Amino acid sequence: MEKRTLNSKNKESLLDDKLKFYIDAIARFCDRCGTPYSTADVNIVQDSGMSAIIHFSCSNCKSRHIATFLKPIGVSSRTPINTDLSITEISQFANKASITSDDILDLYTTLKAGVKKL
Ligand SMILES: [Zn+2]
Repeated sequence: MEKRTLNSKNKESLLDDKLKFYIDAIARFCDRCGTPYSTADVNIVQDSGMSAIIHFSCSNCKSRHIATFLKPIGVSSRTPINTDLSITEISQFANKASITSDDILDLYTTLKAGVKKL
């Protein structure tokens, strides 16, 4: 179902709502220092029908996390990142290939394994 009737003047508040949704669904506080995330700390790297990839950046301790959110099953996974990749670079990487549900499960499994190792 598409919402083509929504025009661009609502775009910013829609984005804000989305960011708030992801903060609520994935992480409200920084893992490292406990600072609450605000919408300014969160970037949507990719948002498809099946999944979303969200970048969290703590305004206090500067620690960064990449989260995947699988919409059909409502599961999220978050992993710290230590690279200097910018949001744009991460986005380019994420958009390289069209993502299938298998890819998402692979990514989820990989992230989960990565989190367990920490
Ligand atoms: Zn922090």
